[in-house]
Amino acid sequence: MTAPIVFSGIQPTGRKHLGNYIGAIRQYVEGQDRGDPAIFCIVDLHAISVAYDPAELRERRYDTTAILLAAGLDPERCVFFRQSDVREHAELTWLLSAVTAHGDLNRMHQFKDKSAKQQELVSAALFYYPVLMAADVLAYKATEVPVGDDQRQHVELMREIARRFNERFGETLVVPELIIPAVGARIMDLQEPERKMSTTGGTEAGTVLVLDEEATIRKKVGSAVTDSGREVRRAPDKAGITNLIDVYAVARGVEPAAVEREFEGAGYGDFKKAVAEAVVEYLAPVRERYAELRGDEAALEATLAAGAEKARALAAPTLAEVRERMGFGAA
Ligand code: ATP
Ligand code: MG
Repeated sequence: MTAPIVFSGIQPTGRKHLGNYIGAIRQYVEGQDRGDPAIFCIVDLHAISVAYDPAELRERRYDTTAILLAAGLDPERCVFFRQSDVREHAELTWLLSAVTAHGDLNRMHQFKDKSAKQQELVSAALFYYPVLMAADVLAYKATEVPVGDDQRQHVELMREIARRFNERFGETLVVPELIIPAVGARIMDLQEPERKMSTTGGTEAGTVLVLDEEATIRKKVGSAVTDSGREVRRAPDKAGITNLIDVYAVARGVEPAAVEREFEGAGYGDFKKAVAEAVVEYLAPVRERYAELRGDEAALEATLAAGAEKARALAAPTLAEVRERMGFGAA
């Protein structure tokens, strides 16, 4: 069996949270040993689809880079780079737009959710986001895309774009598979457990940041919204408790069913204390390592630059093929 080609991206917007860590970052670290190559990208071109400040974007990009390295990404074992450094992504986006249905983009939940929240401008970039995301993945002929559950629809769309390209221009692109974790694919906001925890859209008190201090984590988990019942078990009408069970299961490396057994008869208060402790222990090593890495921006730059070179070498041949198929360049 040939090794999968793994690709995933993370936005350097705002501050990354426990949902990103559990749904995505954790899978990257695991994926770098399976993938050949495994490619991980700080998708800064995606970040400009909502209101942003250029100077802050620079800072957040280093923050996110350091978080991923602290979590265990090893630039020796994977390709780790910044999207804006590899121009092929932007060019392929435009080329793929020829086989992207406007009607499909119109159906995207993320656009509907995020556009409703924009105060001044709903940018065309926000509408176009899924085409850029398709280009990110298809440029590397990736076979697997590890993401959180919220990205299902975007991965389905990129599959459709690849299929349509191949039908129209001949077999060129690879149709990738969605990879989402069995537990923790959708971590919910602790204050509004009907909504996913989010970098740009969630509540502050309901969003546990990867870099939060111990006391802050304990406070946020301790005040998580639950329900009027008293049983620690998963159920559709117990969104808050179900979410905490998932978080605890991942942090402790056990199955959700085992968590229900462990806390049979326990009150919500005790359960929340245990969840907080588990999250504190889960994130502490990342926060410590982050503190060591974040200060050396020159080293972070060097890592990203080396990664970009590797990424370009992988993406350029795909672009050459796509251009050729589409009728660009000398005959
Ligand atoms: P935004 O809300 O601004 O889109 P985000 O929190 O979704 O930000 P991204 O950088 O867009 O962060 O997503 C990075 C990865 O984290 C994606 O694979 C996404 O599916 C995953 N992810 C995001 N939120 C969650 C969540 N609440 N639970 C699990 N995975 C998540
Ligand atoms: Mg997102």
